[in-house]
Amino acid sequence: MQQEVKLLIKLQAVDLEVKHIQDKKEEGPKGLRHIEKMAKEQEEELNSFLEKQEELKQKKRGKETELEDEIAHLKKCQGKLMAVKTNREYQALLKEIEEIKKANRKREDEIVVVMEDIERLENEIKEKQEGLSKIKEEISIEKGKLDSLFRKHDKELAKFEENRKTMVKDIPAELLKRYDFLRSKRNGLAVVGVLNAVCLGCHMNIPPQLYNELLKEKKIIYCPSCQRIIYYQDVPKAANEKG
Ligand SMILES: [Zn+2]
Repeated sequence: MQQEVKLLIKLQAVDLEVKHIQDKKEEGPKGLRHIEKMAKEQEEELNSFLEKQEELKQKKRGKETELEDEIAHLKKCQGKLMAVKTNREYQALLKEIEEIKKANRKREDEIVVVMEDIERLENEIKEKQEGLSKIKEEISIEKGKLDSLFRKHDKELAKFEENRKTMVKDIPAELLKRYDFLRSKRNGLAVVGVLNAVCLGCHMNIPPQLYNELLKEKKIIYCPSCQRIIYYQDVPKAANEKG
């Protein structure tokens, strides 16, 4: 095999490793983003609970004020009882007092219901707040993990970058340019073997004349279908790598 192709194969192994690490780096924060989304939803739900609770508290205060006013009203009526002159007036006032009392009992019951609602909501809010603080804890743990992973990946990438700089020195500039172009267009795979006259990049047959050229290993050959740089491979890659 030509020296240049050998170098390109080695370079490609490094570049694929780099790509793999970059993919992992991109993949990494996905889990975190998912948890952050969950936290945001929980926070929104919590806020709506808090709003509802505030509404109920206002409702309770309104009913309490109403009740106080009506208690005062009742006292006033009761005070008037002594001053009425006729039995008819007296009966009418008694009736009014009874009605106020009845209405106030109803108000008291309503206040109890609102208080129960507030208490129920309070428990739900507490649960939500606990859940949310757990999620936030998870987020900070996940961020810590990601940070150390990022640092590890960056270190690896820097090492590969250094390797690459040394490797490309021995590759002709035009060929390297072509290789980099192919790599960007062909998902990182710019150099592929040809096994049994089949391009392992696109799985198309290599025409016989070109295949003969390839066997001579005299110049750089490109697959006519996928344009990748091709080389003759007499055994499957896994077995070939050992030799
Ligand atoms: Zn091909």
